[in-house]
Amino acid sequence: MALSIADGTLLNNGVAMPWLGIGTWQAAAGRETEQSVAWALELGYRHVDTAALYANEADVGRALRASGIPRDEVFVTTKVWNEDLRQRRVREAFDLSLNKLGLERVDLYLVHWPVPGAYLEAWKVLEELLAEGRTRAIGVSNFLVPQLETLLAKARIAPAVNQVEWHPWLQQPALVEFCRQHGIVFQAWSPLMQGRVGEEPELVRIARGHGKSPAQVAIRWGLQRQVVMIPKSVKHARIAENAGVFDFELTADEVAAIDRCDRGQRLGADPNDFHF
Ligand code: NDP
Repeated sequence: MALSIADGTLLNNGVAMPWLGIGTWQAAAGRETEQSVAWALELGYRHVDTAALYANEADVGRALRASGIPRDEVFVTTKVWNEDLRQRRVREAFDLSLNKLGLERVDLYLVHWPVPGAYLEAWKVLEELLAEGRTRAIGVSNFLVPQLETLLAKARIAPAVNQVEWHPWLQQPALVEFCRQHGIVFQAWSPLMQGRVGEEPELVRIARGHGKSPAQVAIRWGLQRQVVMIPKSVKHARIAENAGVFDFELTADEVAAIDRCDRGQRLGADPNDFHF
């Protein structure tokens, strides 16, 4: 269990990944991303999630350099986008991402979506990049059980992480269990329900009892469920708020009450309905 913002879980190859990171999807390229990542690093975050798709890798890289924090103290994830999978140019996409980030390696490189007919070939390139030491770990995103089974049957190296939509309204227990059984760390995207945490009465009720916010309760619940959480904010007060989750603990009854909020409701794209 995470006791502080620097605490992490171990991936299947022994690399440590902090339980809490900052997300950057929809953080605008330029000042907005650079400033939010800089604030996060100042506030103690040591894990940043970006992607080629977000068009803000250069800004993430600038914030990392300006922070003066040693490179090996920050966990950086980026992802290869669908078009590059389809065009069989994963290595080129990786080089471009590293270049934009201004880094010699990333900590985690993810296949962003399980593009049918393309992700197995892409995975071989990720295995090569890992062997070359240009990424410290490789993983996937938005993979469901059938796609994970297909990948595991062919892969030389199993994915270290699966980053998927996960929050009180979409808990995907079978997928969580599958990942756990195969040593794949489960990472939540949209852990704050894209800002809708205040619409869930259980989160509001439990938050009141702890003198915390619904966002803090949602993040704390994920941490207690052993899920890596990457809430996104571009506002200083919220970046700080989202990190204020290590000074309280939910009871087993509170965790169970949030578990019961599952409605199987996606707020983002459905990996089964792949058309982008
Ligand atoms: P989140 O669930 O993290 O919610 C972000 C939204 O919540 C923003 O509108 C933000 O607004 C708002 N917010 C932030 N903090 C608070 C707070 N304390 N109280 C109330 N509202 C708050 O959604 P994301 O979809 O951004 O997911 C998180 C990260 O996961 C992404 O940024 C990205 O890095 C990753 N991701 C990965 C995907 C994938 O396919 N692999 C898909 C989607 C996301 P503001 O910024 O104005 O504070």
